[in-house]
Amino acid sequence: MSEYASSDIRIVDVIAHPLSQTLPRPTVTSWGKYTEVSIVLVEVRTDAGIVGVGEALARFSPKAYAELIETSLKPRLVGQNPTDIAALWRSMRRALSGRAGGVLIEAISGVDIALWDILGKVAGLPIHRLLGGMGRSHVPVYAASVNWGTDEFMDSEIDRYLEKGFPRIKIKVANPVKDACRRIERLRKRAGEAIELCVDANWAYSLEEAVEVGRALTDNNYFWFEEPLRPEDEAGYEELHRRCATPLAAGESNYTLDQAMRLVSNRTLSYLQPDVARAGGISETRRMAEFAAAHDVQYAPHIGMSGIVCETASVHLAAAMPNLRAMECETDSSPFKTAITGAAPGADRQKDGLLPVPTGPGLGIEIDWDAVARLRCA
Ligand SMILES: [Mg+2]
Repeated sequence: MSEYASSDIRIVDVIAHPLSQTLPRPTVTSWGKYTEVSIVLVEVRTDAGIVGVGEALARFSPKAYAELIETSLKPRLVGQNPTDIAALWRSMRRALSGRAGGVLIEAISGVDIALWDILGKVAGLPIHRLLGGMGRSHVPVYAASVNWGTDEFMDSEIDRYLEKGFPRIKIKVANPVKDACRRIERLRKRAGEAIELCVDANWAYSLEEAVEVGRALTDNNYFWFEEPLRPEDEAGYEELHRRCATPLAAGESNYTLDQAMRLVSNRTLSYLQPDVARAGGISETRRMAEFAAAHDVQYAPHIGMSGIVCETASVHLAAAMPNLRAMECETDSSPFKTAITGAAPGADRQKDGLLPVPTGPGLGIEIDWDAVARLRCA
């Protein structure tokens, strides 16, 4: 038991840290080449001395997110009990009377994760136990990703992951379709039949192109086809599901359960991939995963281009959700994964595709706030 009674604790400050850094190696998808990455870390302080940390996905203008958190959300939080997470989530959502949009939900995500970190520290339990717990000491992960490039480049990429012992690997696909189809076959031959392979198109295709790529995936025994179409084209996903035998995966572009509900409830998707730092934090991502479980859809946490806080929050969710398939494991670690805690990133700690689940209270990580200060945006 913790020495702190939750009824005695109050939030005294909320600080948003906008971080931006150059990636050690560019990420190349159908969108192009990413050379920089940004996030916002959220620090929630309490009068009990407990500090919670969260992460908001903030792919652009991280300082704008920080201002939103400190000017619009902080006044709704200071003086409140941080363990009243559902009430605080609703209060933050009511900062805007219209549809929430992405930036507000991403900002709330960062605060929500920090509140769960505090709740865990108050209770003296890791978050995965607060979520109910599935008794998992490790969660299955997949390597992300083989970047898009020439045949030889993609060969070298998959060899790297095979050498690291990953039994599941994701491959980026793009246009032209004939190149994608050829590489799908080529990489299957190179990996062998024992390795589980999937692809991510980052919305590269029209419906007809996706049907053609889907045939190559089915012929070569890939286990999912991720974001073939733009996320708003729900009717397109439904038609593709009827014409493509490979299971469909999506969800990293969704904000809240509302945006995932249609394609999960009619089982167009076989895998739902919310990002905890985008979808609404641990509270909302849990609802999404549980809604998916009720429809026999599997949960596969997205963490691409995130920091260690998003990765760790995702491990807790992955450990606690009954319908987990596998969690994304980003192999090119930015300083947000390597430099702000004592813990190594998941890609360096996984063994044979299994990542240990943290055992300490809350998220179970210690933040080096001096390092965070060094990574702040200029
Ligand atoms: Mg993706």
